[in-house]
Amino acid sequence: MIFRLLLIVLLCSTQVSYGQSRIERIEPPNWWAGMETDTIQLLVYGDNVASLTPIIKNKSVKILGTTVLESPNYLFIDIKVDGQLPKRKVKINFLENKRKVESITYPILARQDNRKNLEGFDNSDAIYLITPDRFANGDATNDYISPMLEKPDRENIGGRHGGDIQGIQNNLDYIVDLGFSAIWLNPLLENDMETYSYHGYSTTDFYKVDPRFGSNEAYLEMTEEARDKGLKLIMDMIVNHCGLEHWWMTDYPSPDWINEWDEYTQTNHRKTVLQDPYVSELDKKTFTDGWFVPTMPDLNQRNEQMATYLIQNSIWWVEYLGLAGIRMDTYPYPDMYFMTDWTKAMMKEYPDLNIVGEEWFGEPAIVSYWQKGKKNPNGYASELKSLMDFPIQSTLVKALTEEEGWSTGWMALYEVLAQDFLYADPQNLVVFPDNHDMSRIFTQVEEDYGKFQQALTYILTTRGIPQIYYGTEILMKNPGTEDHGIIRSDFPGGWKGDKTNGFTNKGLSEEAIAAKTWLTILLEWRKTASAVHTGKLTHFLPNEGVYVYFRYDDDQKIMVVLNKNTEDYILDLKRFAEMFDGETKGKNVFTQEEILLGKSITVGGNGATVLEIF
Ligand code: CA
Repeated sequence: MIFRLLLIVLLCSTQVSYGQSRIERIEPPNWWAGMETDTIQLLVYGDNVASLTPIIKNKSVKILGTTVLESPNYLFIDIKVDGQLPKRKVKINFLENKRKVESITYPILARQDNRKNLEGFDNSDAIYLITPDRFANGDATNDYISPMLEKPDRENIGGRHGGDIQGIQNNLDYIVDLGFSAIWLNPLLENDMETYSYHGYSTTDFYKVDPRFGSNEAYLEMTEEARDKGLKLIMDMIVNHCGLEHWWMTDYPSPDWINEWDEYTQTNHRKTVLQDPYVSELDKKTFTDGWFVPTMPDLNQRNEQMATYLIQNSIWWVEYLGLAGIRMDTYPYPDMYFMTDWTKAMMKEYPDLNIVGEEWFGEPAIVSYWQKGKKNPNGYASELKSLMDFPIQSTLVKALTEEEGWSTGWMALYEVLAQDFLYADPQNLVVFPDNHDMSRIFTQVEEDYGKFQQALTYILTTRGIPQIYYGTEILMKNPGTEDHGIIRSDFPGGWKGDKTNGFTNKGLSEEAIAAKTWLTILLEWRKTASAVHTGKLTHFLPNEGVYVYFRYDDDQKIMVVLNKNTEDYILDLKRFAEMFDGETKGKNVFTQEEILLGKSITVGGNGATVLEIF
């Protein structure tokens, strides 16, 4: 702990303040010695800095060249950082008319040992997704920071409610005790926007945590503590767009920094234009270069300096925090060739890191296009390891809420999973019952607790890496509305004075308490279930509202029975004979009850049964 505090103090002391200097900022704010990425490009911003000539006299750091674009207020400096930590501080002197006019020290730091082989998240993990503004307010003094544009207003469903990094840190044990091993946080970087800034997807500074969430140092401290407790951290990143109030929006380095249109043009959000063999150039360009929304300018990743800036920024955060993974927002929207370069660069630096991309589309044919190893007819080769499994999410809900039919109900889910042959690596997909952008699963299954249990059981026992949204464990819901501010409601007990408390169960309904207990049993069991982590999957055609599948490896065999019927169901085991090899008993994972596997077993109505077979 003392070591960590010392480390944080050391890192804090590397934050450069340029004071009265003409140079307002240099990004990245530091780099490290011994990185695979040893050639970096510094973005120097300040009044007329393009006319300055930088000089570095240091054995370990050399200037390779400089670039000036249209704005006189930017200077890009390419430097090479040796594998050795510089013996002397790295000073950059800036000359104008051969006279030294500015001088700054650029921090080149030693890498921490644990950054060299960062372990990614994988199938043995279960991810807890948090919207930081809405989870817990650990520090009420940062709810408003002058002169930031948006003030806190807990009465406003789309406003800032004050949740923060400290609130997450205070409740790490709660997350661990639920049985999770990883957390994905919606973005924490500065969003100094006038309104609707709490969600974090309108970045106004790519190197700075929003002060209303805390600080870079607080993010690091929380991440370190989470790691100590066995929680991996997944950072939400966005390279498609920034926020309209981003500092560079009043002074672009070059006119093509942002994808500009004669009149405001929104992306058409039609993701299939990238695969469509008959697509028009206009539709494709509109998809990639149109703005996400009017407050989110579309970044031009085809600009070389922009591309370098974004790649370095991502590496900087992984190295600074020691991340286990990245969740990349709106994966198909940026220039798709840039995305390959970005992913390649990340993997070169951190081969074991996992990155999951958001491609919100209901068909495996489209989602699988983006996974590394997929051979696409048009030759596009992605380097992305993992994707969010939207086809499973939407079909799972339909399977539970639609009547059984030839191609509806469980059959629809069966047939989507059957399309796993389209993926290069279906095991490395992230499966989820809901997320921050859609109705809560309890609402999606019409507040039917049995269906809720079937949905969660499926997500936690099918192939892939499960992700659960905060508050699912206490049946948070959004009845009668799809307002995102309601979906992302405050977790009860996260604010001083809350009458109900999801952390302690105070004031929760009996059903919510039961849900939490039930989910914790399932998550704790899943931690030990190698067959679920890496085993094979065999499923049988759904029949009479019952879907049966097995997960198995050399050490373990699991049988999952999802029964949509309201009544108990007598399941004849004959049809599953190929899965049995002399086993005679099954242990119910939820009740620990042992049952004999005779000719048939009886499973409860509208619920999920998970048996360990032995
Ligand atoms: Ca706060």
